[in-house]
Amino acid sequence: MKISIIGPPGAGKGTYAAELSKKYNIPIIAIGRELRDMVGTKLGDMLKEKYWGKGDLIPSKYAMGILKKRINKKGYILDGFPREVEEAEMFGKIDRLDAVVFIKVSQKTILDRLHGRLQCKKCGRVYHVKGMPPKNDKLCDDCSVELYERVDDKEEKVIKERFKVYHEETEPVIKYYKERNLLLEISGEGSVPEVVKSIEDAIRRKLQIKS
Ligand SMILES: [Zn+2]
Repeated sequence: MKISIIGPPGAGKGTYAAELSKKYNIPIIAIGRELRDMVGTKLGDMLKEKYWGKGDLIPSKYAMGILKKRINKKGYILDGFPREVEEAEMFGKIDRLDAVVFIKVSQKTILDRLHGRLQCKKCGRVYHVKGMPPKNDKLCDDCSVELYERVDDKEEKVIKERFKVYHEETEPVIKYYKERNLLLEISGEGSVPEVVKSIEDAIRRKLQIKS
């Protein structure tokens, strides 16, 4: 199964990707995570310094290079990719997605939730103090590493700016996949288990698989 999860910043894409990864036993490919892993290499340091360290998207050709190395025949979940139509078109030349899950959620809901997001420094897993708390106070369930509040979430202004960029760049991607009959539009307003269930139901219908 080859799927992509897209949606606005803070929609919980990483959380849903993790749930689906467990259920379908396929890896998650997230550009942000790959970039963090590349720090220390010549290319990784350059990309950090020139682009993502400043909050800018990395150029599509680098994103494609990273994906090419990670995609496989068995399946995968792309977390937050493609971000632009250009990337959707480029990706279409290297592989074919079965479905694109679009998590639809309002800016207001996201701003409410962004306060209280915690992330593991080691594995990148994201928690929420209310929505999805870790089992032990502020430690990652998987690594027992102390969680930190995501810095970029502290500034509401930054979030609003990211939302604006998302509207301009990613909304055309939604249209692109809708036209190709690959889009599964899911309301992201509910609780995590509710949203996960909606996604799984939609995937089951789309791919006509038995649970
Ligand atoms: Zn962890």
